[in-house]
Amino acid sequence: MKFKEEINESYTMAEAIAEAQRCLQCKVPQCKKGCPISNDIPDWIHELKKGNMGNAISIIRAKSNLPAVCGRVCAHEKQCEGNCVLGKKGEPVNIGKLERFVADFDSELGLTHEDMVEKTRGKVAVIGAGPSGITVAGDLSRMGFAVEVFEMEAQCGGVLRYGIPEYRLPKEVVAREIRYIEKMGVVIHRNTHVGVEITVDSLFEQGFDAIYIGTGLSKPKSLEIPIWQNGRCIFKGEGATRNFNLKRIRLATHFLRRVELINEGFMKREELPVDEGARVWVIGCGNTAMDTSRTALRIGASQVNVIYHKGMENMSALRAEYEDAVKEGVRFNWWSAITEIHVDDDMEITEIVLETKEPGKEPVKQTLPADNIIMAIGATPATKIVRTTSGLDNDDQNFLITRDIPYGMTTRKGVFAGGDVVGRQATVVHAMQDAKKVTMGIAQYVDAVRLMKAINM
Ligand code: SF4
Repeated sequence: MKFKEEINESYTMAEAIAEAQRCLQCKVPQCKKGCPISNDIPDWIHELKKGNMGNAISIIRAKSNLPAVCGRVCAHEKQCEGNCVLGKKGEPVNIGKLERFVADFDSELGLTHEDMVEKTRGKVAVIGAGPSGITVAGDLSRMGFAVEVFEMEAQCGGVLRYGIPEYRLPKEVVAREIRYIEKMGVVIHRNTHVGVEITVDSLFEQGFDAIYIGTGLSKPKSLEIPIWQNGRCIFKGEGATRNFNLKRIRLATHFLRRVELINEGFMKREELPVDEGARVWVIGCGNTAMDTSRTALRIGASQVNVIYHKGMENMSALRAEYEDAVKEGVRFNWWSAITEIHVDDDMEITEIVLETKEPGKEPVKQTLPADNIIMAIGATPATKIVRTTSGLDNDDQNFLITRDIPYGMTTRKGVFAGGDVVGRQATVVHAMQDAKKVTMGIAQYVDAVRLMKAINM
């Protein structure tokens, strides 16, 4: 199916070395400064240039547990490549594509095997196998901690698996990174829902010294768009679009997850409530909205319109993602919002009323045909773990409250949190950056607790 094909070609070895040779090996590398996890970019590019692939990937892996993922989905244009000195007068080094090449080359040929570090420093449970959980698990394992990951889904990866479409991030790439972590000695319990089947307290009873929560976001935000039928408003008020539960209104995360399940053969195409030829309206203008719009076109939508209540300059989507979406035929409606949803007697969506309020101009209202509305407007954390754990506090938007010393510890002693669930991250690599800081907080905490126990014995 066309929505499964990866869109960007990889380098050949000769192309990769030629690109690596463009690097000036700057003494103060601005590319590294632009990388949230301070990847030693010139060092591994230097090794790549000499054809030392094993050394190149070892340098990358010292900072990143997800190099093949980062090589594909990081915002390079705003980070490493955006800071590369060559970009001031011409083209920056294509660092993302080089990272992807090195990581894929290593995975395909199995160049590197990390020595299994003895796990003597303590035992840590990680809840959630998304980017932040994988980062914490991999880093702690390398530092000598025994780590067990508890993942509610059958497959690991979280947003990497279910929130980024196959054409941008093939799921085999995610699976390879997970296999690498497991080879390092990390134990993963799949289909295990903490807060339902087991609790934080029962994990402490099992002897874990610390617990990391990296469960991300799963509770949808909702919009108040009144629903109209036969000229009469039949529902309005808080959470109208969620509470009314129309099957043609879906969350972007739900939609992308379903498409992935179809890719994996767990669902039939007919079970996706977006038909061939559908006219789809996507609300929101972040990267998830871009992924959603392009995926909707790939699965056969005849028109996809993005609706954003502000102007282009305010969108949170990467410029490159936006441009790719435009190239593929996605249309954008700036300064706009849906003010009414019209449904027929079978509760199928037939039309929307779109209001556009461009600054300095008169508002314009249009009634336009519609079949589906997909909301890419964000989510908040689920509360199951908080509800089943005493002493764990969250704020009024359900984000877990953490402190700076030890970094990332919640209001419950020994329980840490990071990534989306604390509301700090913006992208995959920022989640990794935050997770690395929390990893150090966990290590400090466990070392101190075990030292105190040893002194008092
Ligand atoms: Fe190479 Fe660009 Fe980094 Fe300089 S800034 S070391 S040229 S990648």
